[in-house]
Amino acid sequence: MGGSCEIKDDYAGYPLNMFCVPKHYEADLTDIMIPAGLINDRIERIARDIVQDIIPQENRGIVVLCVLKGGYKFFADLLDKIKQLNRNSEESIPISIDFIRLQSYKNDKSQGSIQVIGGDRLENLKGKCVLVVEDIIDTGGTMIKLKELLAKHEPKCVKVASLLVKRSARNCGYKPDFTGFEIPDEFVVGYALDYNEHFRDLSHICVINENGKKKYAV
Ligand code: 5GP
Repeated sequence: MGGSCEIKDDYAGYPLNMFCVPKHYEADLTDIMIPAGLINDRIERIARDIVQDIIPQENRGIVVLCVLKGGYKFFADLLDKIKQLNRNSEESIPISIDFIRLQSYKNDKSQGSIQVIGGDRLENLKGKCVLVVEDIIDTGGTMIKLKELLAKHEPKCVKVASLLVKRSARNCGYKPDFTGFEIPDEFVVGYALDYNEHFRDLSHICVINENGKKKYAV
């Protein structure tokens, strides 16, 4: 529902010196793909789409499940917008929050399997309506495996919001229920998305360059 903002393959992004980027990352990025202000504006609309979609189906409340660590900024900002709508609308939706930590990437390559390496007890999700909040879908493998895992704990329903979906030949056809931006097939960092734990402290979503990949490789 709601579609997504499509960023085309020939989009060049914004030069780094047009916005504020931490000095320690200046040599490591190609360009700014999505400035923080635009992310914020898009999230405001996704929050509205989610509330409009969920309220008619489920007025007893939802569990918003944050996929750590990359999803934490999207999760926090999305929750703020949903709370804003809750405060100012005739209808509102009770929210509780849970966290799950997964690991699937090393350098810029998927490891092919997911591991749950932390978070809340998934047993708590039984009979609940769950909104999974993820940073980015690439192959779709992580989300398919996560949904299989969640299904074992018998939630009433599971919806997925992903800030980014990569237009990638590797995608297995999976599409989330709510998407912020559909982006070209490039490795992006910032706004809590990392490269080996670096760049989470960058506000904008940017494309990492070869220098950055080499500098922070493990
Ligand atoms: P998938 O299983 O869909 O291939 O990958 C999903 C996960 O891979 C995301 O949650 C994220 O951790 C990581 N990932 C995929 N593409 C990117 C990217 O461009 N940048 C970053 N930082 N992480 C990515």
